[in-house]
Amino acid sequence: MKKKKVIIVGAGPGGLVAGMILSQKGFDVHIYEKKAIVGGRNGFIQAGEFKFDLGPTFFLMKDVLERIFKICNRNLDDYVKITQLDPMYKLVFNDKTFAPTTDKERMVLEIERVFPGSSKGYLQYIEREQKKYDRLIPCLEVPYGSLTDYFSLRLLKALPYLDGHLSLFDVLGKYFDDDFLKVCFTFQAKYIGMSPWQAPGLFSILSFIEHGGGVFHVNGGLNELSKAIAKVIEECDGNIHLSKGVKKLIVENSVCKGVLLEDGSEERADYVVLNADFAHAMKNLVEPADRRKYTDKKLKKMKYSCSTFMLYLGLDKKYEKLYHHNIFFANDYKHNVDEIVSNSIIPDDPSIYVHNPSLIDDSLAPDGKSSVYVLVPIGNTSGGIDWTAKKEAFKEKILNILETKAGINDIRSHIEELRIITPDDWENQMDIYDGATFNLGHNMGQLLYFRPHNEFEEFANCYLVGGGTHPGSGLPTIYESARISSELILKKEGLNLYS
Ligand SMILES: Cc1cc2nc3c(=O)[nH]c(=O)nc-3n(C[C@H](O)[C@H](O)[C@H](O)COP(=O)(O)OP(=O)(O)OC[C@H]3O[C@@H](n4cnc5c(N)ncnc54)[C@H](O)[C@@H]3O)c2cc1C
Repeated sequence: MKKKKVIIVGAGPGGLVAGMILSQKGFDVHIYEKKAIVGGRNGFIQAGEFKFDLGPTFFLMKDVLERIFKICNRNLDDYVKITQLDPMYKLVFNDKTFAPTTDKERMVLEIERVFPGSSKGYLQYIEREQKKYDRLIPCLEVPYGSLTDYFSLRLLKALPYLDGHLSLFDVLGKYFDDDFLKVCFTFQAKYIGMSPWQAPGLFSILSFIEHGGGVFHVNGGLNELSKAIAKVIEECDGNIHLSKGVKKLIVENSVCKGVLLEDGSEERADYVVLNADFAHAMKNLVEPADRRKYTDKKLKKMKYSCSTFMLYLGLDKKYEKLYHHNIFFANDYKHNVDEIVSNSIIPDDPSIYVHNPSLIDDSLAPDGKSSVYVLVPIGNTSGGIDWTAKKEAFKEKILNILETKAGINDIRSHIEELRIITPDDWENQMDIYDGATFNLGHNMGQLLYFRPHNEFEEFANCYLVGGGTHPGSGLPTIYESARISSELILKKEGLNLYS
């Protein structure tokens, strides 16, 4: 029997996982990727002798990808070397330094060291958030193509745990009094580009995912995950066409029939899976006449995550005083977050995240040297900041913070390579709408049934994967989006994901 053909637009984590599942299940898979490498935002940057993850550095819920590899009759550990980090990270706020661990006994001691009297709240947090996690995760594993799905018994049962009436920061107020301690369990809202004071209370599961499941590093960087998935696709006779951009989706009578490539050729398929940034793809790859719901006006009105300003530093030494993951918070973190969500203010005192993987991973830099990446959450491009004019001064500000708050006061004299990515670069070079690095916002009006559906609602035979569809942004949820959409395609063909 002739194999059914699937075209996937984009080789980001979402497109790759869909490609891995569908090629392993016998589909004729063709992934068209605009860039010369796989991975999208989960790719890498090579600067001279130094290699950096472009985006993701926190590998969480590794069981999600392990399960998907199992579905494809493979073992993730055969493809990548994964190490659990303990402590998970170092958090620095004014005169306080806090290093959380998943080891509960040591965590109680660490809390008592920094926040005397607060460990009881931590134990309550672990107990209640475990229940929330157990109720909520199954709700994220299924598609929300109809309102019936939305009002399912599964979701109704989870409702008491959703904390829908509270903000994330308010939820942590149930457990802790100290504001910095609350920040230590809510800063994770930045993983989905949101403010802890605005993100829905259900997102307390983000910190619980770390505290309950741990934080992992992948040797060579998290970009190696994308390479591993691409390897499986090749083993399953799937095709990844690099440097082959898609110009338009071919839609005829509300059915997606294939793609028009940038080189002018047309490729037809039974199914099209869209992994490119959702809003950017709608605006640029789909003719306005084929979009009734996601018109340009609607796209403009939708909510988007924040962006990031990035520094990739190749250094001729290693800094042992930095941990693997480090966050240096602004002196007034709430004010900093408000500036970020305004999208129009460059923070005077930004919070910065510093990634220092060379401490445990020799593959990223030559002997004795290190690859350090700094991520600064910042407004997306909708605020109109002119980054061409501002980027040099902002880079200097970040280096000053590394010298002062991080205490690495000789850093300027040890820089061998330096690359910068601004919100404008995310938009213009990585094709991300408004440079919103964490995709569509994760407010209640853009979640579950209200997020663009896995089986796309605008036209038939088109499925979405990646941060712009259900369940949302972040590697595990993106892998899940691809598993959900692939399962929907398999069902259409009368096939089962697990056989
Ligand atoms: C700086 C940063 C840090 C992050 N940190 C973390 C983290 O620590 N942990 C975590 O879990 N998540 C993190 N994320 C979020 C998320 O996991 C990643 O952004 C992830 O790579 C998004 O995957 P995706 O599948 O949605 O799409 P993308 O990675 O954006 O991939 C989409 C692909 O489509 C391609 N494409 C676009 N247009 C076309 C076209 N016309 N034709 C062909 N191809 C096209 C693009 O080139 C790209 O390769 C981070 C993101 C960023 C940006």
